[in-house]
Amino acid sequence: MEHLRIRPGTDVDLASFDPNDTSGFDGGKSEAVAELKRLRKRLADLQYRFWADGGEKLLVVLQALDSGGKDGTIRRVFAGVNPQGVRVHGFKKPTEIELAHDYLWRVHRHTPASGMIAVFNRSHYEDVLVVRVLGLVPEERWRKRYGHINAFERLLTDEGTTIVKFYLHISEDEQAERFQARLDDPTKRWKFSKGDLATRSQWDAYMAAYNEALSKTSTEHAPWYVVPANKKWYRNLVVARTLIGILESMDLQFPEPEEDLDDIVIV
Ligand code: AMP
Ligand code: MG
Repeated sequence: MEHLRIRPGTDVDLASFDPNDTSGFDGGKSEAVAELKRLRKRLADLQYRFWADGGEKLLVVLQALDSGGKDGTIRRVFAGVNPQGVRVHGFKKPTEIELAHDYLWRVHRHTPASGMIAVFNRSHYEDVLVVRVLGLVPEERWRKRYGHINAFERLLTDEGTTIVKFYLHISEDEQAERFQARLDDPTKRWKFSKGDLATRSQWDAYMAAYNEALSKTSTEHAPWYVVPANKKWYRNLVVARTLIGILESMDLQFPEPEEDLDDIVIV
């Protein structure tokens, strides 16, 4: 899935990324579903080792526009893992207390401890995305944040956290279909908020904000992947495969058992 990784220093233009792309997978949806099942099993095995090893920390950042598939990705990709070893945190509109602090204050405490995988459903990137588009702080303030974010992520990786960041890339048409589906289905209506339409009407401003964020913050130590996400099955495969690749590259070991256990027989 390396072709989806943004090389540091790339000037990203999301318009040149096809949200319908399914390259690297020749089968169609039904094969993908079977493949995802296998990948989930592999991910569960690796996470069991990761948890037992206890020496690594993994931070997974998910960003997307409304209906981009952050929740679905978490549900589908992490379905098989041991919940004890995974913490999902969704970042909502900051509370009054959070707003009274710097924007990273609320983020740092949710970063993963040893042996843990933390999944961010939205993240500190909102502070250069929605904050920028809605003008919630002046430009001279948010503009400095790319540098803070790179330094913050550097701190985390220097201290032993592995970071991977996924931007789930859907098209404007796909978003329209997903919003309509939410409105039409009584069991999905709760997911729709009128505010989503205001956000949708600023599509180009969000694309510009994402282009700059991806360009300035995809680093060797904390890379961004642009995930074609119009097809949910492909999105899930990309995220699952990337996470498996990361876990496989770690030297995960089961802790040494106590000595002289061979002769013990439980009666
Ligand atoms: P949802 O992901 O649908 O639950 O919505 C969460 C909302 O919180 C989105 O509208 C985000 O734009 C908003 N949000 C998250 N982080 C921030 C932030 N730092 N500043 C302002 N709004 C935010
Ligand atoms: Mg929403």
